[in-house]
Amino acid sequence: MEKSIIPYGRQCISETDIRAVVDVLRSDWLTQGPAIEQFEKAVAEYCGAKYAVAVNSATSALHIACLAAGLGAGDMLWTSPNTFVASANCGLYCGAGVDFVDIDSRTYNLNVAELEKKLEIALKSGRVPKIVIPVHFAGQSCEMDKIGDLSRKYGFSVIEDASHAIGGKYLGAPIGGCQFSDMTVFSFHPVKIITTGEGGMVLTNSEDLHERLIRLRSHGITRNPQLMEGESHGPWYYQQIELGFNYRITDIQAALGLSQMSCLDAFVARRHELATSYNEALCELPITIPFQHKDVYSAFHLYVIRLNLGQLAMSHREVFDVLRSKGILVNLHYIPIHLQPYYRKLGFRQETFPEAEKYYGEAITLPVYPSMTEDDQDKVIKALRELFIAGKR
Ligand SMILES: *Cc1c(COP(=O)(O)O)cnc(C)c1O
Repeated sequence: MEKSIIPYGRQCISETDIRAVVDVLRSDWLTQGPAIEQFEKAVAEYCGAKYAVAVNSATSALHIACLAAGLGAGDMLWTSPNTFVASANCGLYCGAGVDFVDIDSRTYNLNVAELEKKLEIALKSGRVPKIVIPVHFAGQSCEMDKIGDLSRKYGFSVIEDASHAIGGKYLGAPIGGCQFSDMTVFSFHPVKIITTGEGGMVLTNSEDLHERLIRLRSHGITRNPQLMEGESHGPWYYQQIELGFNYRITDIQAALGLSQMSCLDAFVARRHELATSYNEALCELPITIPFQHKDVYSAFHLYVIRLNLGQLAMSHREVFDVLRSKGILVNLHYIPIHLQPYYRKLGFRQETFPEAEKYYGEAITLPVYPSMTEDDQDKVIKALRELFIAGKR
């Protein structure tokens, strides 16, 4: 029998999605046409936010969100070490310094008690961050009410990196509504919850931030006469009033995103079914299954287990190698950012964020995606059972 490959995540594209893209290809606009605004409106309405700005990636979204919040040289940005490098790099793009707050041992999200401690110390040395980026790891929201309280007390802006979390809820409200933050960022990379190929979005309830984000997305150019210096020269006229970028998304991508929105709830529901099956099948094994916070409905972008290595005769690496050799493409989210060579050169050292480092030595991301079949999942479960029963101490 040929060995089938089970990836850790993959997109789910329907015939309806394909038709939506083809319709744009036959239309007058490939970029900056009507599909972008429709996509933005659909996501903003779904999330309960006033404004949404679609861009070509979540990385771009994080960059312009930081700029819109006023981040610059001499400022600090704090985030979790357990995230993709983009959550921290956006601070460096703006010329700011970056630091991390260690993770909660249960949720693997930024630890709010640690955040508070670090803020107290930072206040004394006058180094309170300008921006904190909580990352909703694996799709599970951070404790946003507490982070919102701290942001008011210490005067920093909050940008939620919700790249994993569209379709999830916090205290009953959709992620992206920005009740406890200034802005929220989504990613539409193919492994994420919904996709546009490449793409991202910033949501906000602030009219000022919205206007700034729109401008930064497209070269810092405005066509609004009220924002111009002097008089307009005529109907062709625009002015560049700050330094922006070309971070625009295409209508082709936005049409795909808009079409995918109609499947969002079904995708997340299917991810929950798969997570529940894993929970039931794996709870007997020497592993820790994902903790689910009572205030949160996770989008389950990732299903992460932790090995209880004390009860195993095998190493973390060996478990990976065995599963991968069977075509089960388990992954590891994430290598703590402060241990990346680039960040070490900025002065970060091992053992600075012990919880994130310990987690890195034990975590495994199992495959979860909406089109995953029961057979696929049974293969993963069977492989894990065999491995742990064979490898028991
Ligand atoms: C995927 C991801 C990003 C970057 O998303 P792109 O759309 O690929 O730029 C940022 N942060 C987190 C947490 C991610 O998972």
